[in-house]
Amino acid sequence: MTFAIHGLAVARGIAIGRAVLVASSRLDVAHYFIEPSQVAAEIGRVRDGRNAVVEELQRLQASIGQMSPKDTPQELTALLDVHLMLLQDEELSNGVGHWIKDRLYNAEWALTTQLEVVGRQFDEMEDEYLRERKADLEQITEKVLRAMRGVTSPLVHPPGRHGRKTSQQDLLLDDTVDVPLILVAHDLSPSDMLQFKQSIFAGFITDVGGKTSHTAIVARSLDIPAVVGARLSSPLIRQDDWVVIDGDAGVVVIDPSPIILAEYGFKQRQGELQRGRLSRLLHTPAVTMDGHKIELLANIEMPEDAAAALAAGAVGVGLFRSEFMFMGRHGKLPNEEEQYQAYKRAVEGMQGLPVTIRTVDVGADKPLDDTLRDDAHLNPALGLRAIRWSLADPAMFLTQLRAILRAAVHGHVHLLIPMLVHASEIRQTMALIDHARVQLDNRGMAYGPVKIGAMIEIPAAALTLKVFLKYFDFLSIGTNDLIQYTLAIDRADESVAHLYDPMHPAVLRLVANTIAEGHAQNKPVSVCGEMAGDIAMTRLLLGMGLRSFSMHPAQILAVKQEVLRADTTKLTAWAEQVISDEEPSTRIARKA
Ligand code: PEP
Ligand code: MG
Repeated sequence: MTFAIHGLAVARGIAIGRAVLVASSRLDVAHYFIEPSQVAAEIGRVRDGRNAVVEELQRLQASIGQMSPKDTPQELTALLDVHLMLLQDEELSNGVGHWIKDRLYNAEWALTTQLEVVGRQFDEMEDEYLRERKADLEQITEKVLRAMRGVTSPLVHPPGRHGRKTSQQDLLLDDTVDVPLILVAHDLSPSDMLQFKQSIFAGFITDVGGKTSHTAIVARSLDIPAVVGARLSSPLIRQDDWVVIDGDAGVVVIDPSPIILAEYGFKQRQGELQRGRLSRLLHTPAVTMDGHKIELLANIEMPEDAAAALAAGAVGVGLFRSEFMFMGRHGKLPNEEEQYQAYKRAVEGMQGLPVTIRTVDVGADKPLDDTLRDDAHLNPALGLRAIRWSLADPAMFLTQLRAILRAAVHGHVHLLIPMLVHASEIRQTMALIDHARVQLDNRGMAYGPVKIGAMIEIPAAALTLKVFLKYFDFLSIGTNDLIQYTLAIDRADESVAHLYDPMHPAVLRLVANTIAEGHAQNKPVSVCGEMAGDIAMTRLLLGMGLRSFSMHPAQILAVKQEVLRADTTKLTAWAEQVISDEEPSTRIARKA
């Protein structure tokens, strides 16, 4: 039966494919397709992993058997029996065999997929005792996965058999492995998302998350259709269901009828044609009709993203979110050399164009590690985040600063500091940058000149620009956080997503004032939040005087098209009217 779930549109486009349900906690298993000739070996890997766990549990059972009856832990004995029974359960092993043989999933993927299928059956059980056995099932699966780690697949890297885009007709008839796959999860952390940069998934859906949550931001950078905040998707969608993602409307259609499939197939092709048309603008300079040259920069998460930035026609990197290099490392942070090499790769990758490296911004919805989520503090978004975290650990911060300064030998590097608000933090930061230079001098190591900028992303910063303009060479407005902190709306919380309004007059006023004050002091001002890549906002930002936009590479050409059609002589007065309006969004809909 066809049904639809509404969520928040995150990354544009249409994806049609089969659902792959994945629990976030199990995302660290590899997902790739095997060759048919490897089926037996993969099934063997699962069998060996399972047998190793069975043996381990039997050994434990035997040692318990040698205890005196009064010392025998009854609960443990019962638990071992349950675990052994589950391990030898036919449904589990037949199911795993099915995913490997019929879908050519690698062993770990097949095992976690079957865990989701069987786990769901447990969820539906009436008997509470039986329902709770799901936790046992999860435990034994983890054990088998761990045992399998010792018996790793010869395929270290996915062989690149990505879900192939098939025609609509194929989609209706096809029941083979070669169809696009749609990832469905309750939640995904930003570092989970990062794993999907090279992934086989054609789109993804989550139950939770806001439009500018970092998970959504990474999804946008992958440029695959995505919907977040689609509540109840993961409980309602079943493994292998056909699913359509409409990333423009924020809608997910499950089990689409042939007519609906045809309609979305048509929309998908229209989208591809539109992209093709935009690609003709690649080499056109971004200049408004009245002759203003506009700088279109890229936001990147990894040094390797520089290639996509160049390919999209970016004239530099306006925001390199360095924190992604710090995530998912189980607390072991990258050392100076590793960071230096990474920044150097980004700088060289941009072939002489400027690269703005932001110092680490972890915390809030970007935990260093998924296992280290900040549940201890009531308001992590207001807690030890970004520069606060860096200043709390000067040795770590100095390591990063030295690495960035050293990378500046290889090209134009700008250093950007997130989340500053107090003059004392600014002075401390500047002192540490000086200290990093002294340390490099003492070691006789080369470093290059950097321009130093501040993110304006807290209302208090936007209201005290004088001190920022005194110390910094440039400003970069982080609208994602500026909106969150101005309106007191958690950007990652889908339940208040309808109130997260980039067009709130207070937000617009802060953005406009920052641009005007910066320019009045001859300091460059850029916007690097999601607002910069939103074509609905391009004319308004141009009207406010913005000349530098930093966004996901995938958005650059669409924004360039808006720039080419804009005449700033008409936009300035109009922008002032929009900002002064009680409801700017209604006025912007009418355009200048
Ligand atoms: C912002 O806050 O707008 C920004 C660009 O930084 P981040 O999204 O990484 O918090
Ligand atoms: Mg921010």
